[in-house]
Amino acid sequence: MITSKSSDVLIVGAGVVGLAIGLGILESRPTSKVIILEKESALGKHASGRNSGVLHAGFYYSPDSLKAKFCRDGNLELRELCREFNIPLKEVGKVVVSRNEAEDLRLDNLLERGEANGVELELLPKSRLADFEPLAKTYERFLWSPNTAISDSSSVISAMRSKFISLGGELIFDARAELTLNQDEVVIAGYDATIVINAAGAQADRVARKLGLAKDYAMVPFMGLYRKTNSQLLPLQKLVYPVPHPINPFLGVHFTVTLTGSVKIGPTAIPVLGREQYSLWSGWSISDMYQGIIGATALISGDAHSFGEILKSELPKLLQRSLVNQAAELVPTASSVKKWQRQQPGIRAQLVNKRTGELEQDFIVEQSHNSIHVLNAVSPGWTSSIPFGRWVAQTKVLPQL
Ligand SMILES: Cc1cc2nc3c(=O)[nH]c(=O)nc-3n(C[C@H](O)[C@H](O)[C@H](O)COP(=O)(O)OP(=O)(O)OC[C@H]3O[C@@H](n4cnc5c(N)ncnc54)[C@H](O)[C@@H]3O)c2cc1C
Repeated sequence: MITSKSSDVLIVGAGVVGLAIGLGILESRPTSKVIILEKESALGKHASGRNSGVLHAGFYYSPDSLKAKFCRDGNLELRELCREFNIPLKEVGKVVVSRNEAEDLRLDNLLERGEANGVELELLPKSRLADFEPLAKTYERFLWSPNTAISDSSSVISAMRSKFISLGGELIFDARAELTLNQDEVVIAGYDATIVINAAGAQADRVARKLGLAKDYAMVPFMGLYRKTNSQLLPLQKLVYPVPHPINPFLGVHFTVTLTGSVKIGPTAIPVLGREQYSLWSGWSISDMYQGIIGATALISGDAHSFGEILKSELPKLLQRSLVNQAAELVPTASSVKKWQRQQPGIRAQLVNKRTGELEQDFIVEQSHNSIHVLNAVSPGWTSSIPFGRWVAQTKVLPQL
């Protein structure tokens, strides 16, 4: 007779979100049995291991959003985790610079958001920029964010796994979960759990849709490509970001310094055909393309974003020269660097709302009788993961156990 493996909670996906929810449950209720199923054979194969490694400060997000609620505290908790596990963390700080008058005016909005979200931020005149980052340029003013930092995404996810295991959690690799409905119950063959949590990252909406959830959304995957240099011509000290687009949820091509002192430019936000399309020929499927077409159609028919404009601005960035030229608007010396290496790309799990035609800006949590689904876990999902996971555990999972 085949017996099912039983647990209180079964989590699908061992990215930072799945691990953080597991941690949140075990910290509050140490006797719970929590199992995480991960389809890959190692951690960090997708967004949690392919991101910019930036601990965001939390000033971009609308004050009523989950992102605003968790990013600032997530930054503090990720620092604490880095200290606990001796993970390198660089206190670089970030300047946000403007390229024209319209962007300069939007710095005021960012400052307001920062204040509303309780984030330390200064709006300073151009004359002070050289004190922070002499290589950057700005139109009239710039923002200084002292609490933006960088760390290493693979070390962070390994530390979260160690913590989860030490609290009694179980993590099973090479375990692709298929969620199905048995009457009202969400079930996974071979397992028996009180609650199932879908933290499948870029696959989460597909998993939820099979159960009749996530009906309002379609997935348009956006690839983030980076290029890196070790050139002495670019001794950058701080992160340098543009003022983000007023509506699109991407932060724009920016400069990140790495723990080893290299400089990265990117990421792009290029629409691609597949949720795991890290190369031209693999990682996409007919169903991904179908979702992409539904999402793109919703974007085109809605008033909020221009899909044509996104394509027009993003596709040229596939070419190194175009990406570097755009980055050089923030740091002009970047254009004298000729040697850039392509870095491994990441893909954003970006949802489009089919009814409004808008790119969703916030994390979305949907629930059914015995399941919880985390959708649209895009940036700053890495920074926010620990308090976000605790919140899901305390407000959604534990009351049902
Ligand atoms: C290019 C890029 C740059 C970014 N930069 C930053 C940054 O600097 N700072 C920041 O805070 N955030 C950043 N982010 C966002 C951040 O990386 C994500 O928000 C976060 O990693 C999401 O974590 P996750 O656990 O939801 O997803 P993932 O890391 O994708 O994890 C989901 C896991 O679920 C597994 N899975 C899927 N389906 C199944 C199944 N059926 N059965 C079992 N397992 C399954 C997958 O294999 C995967 O391991 C960036 C994202 C991208 C793409």
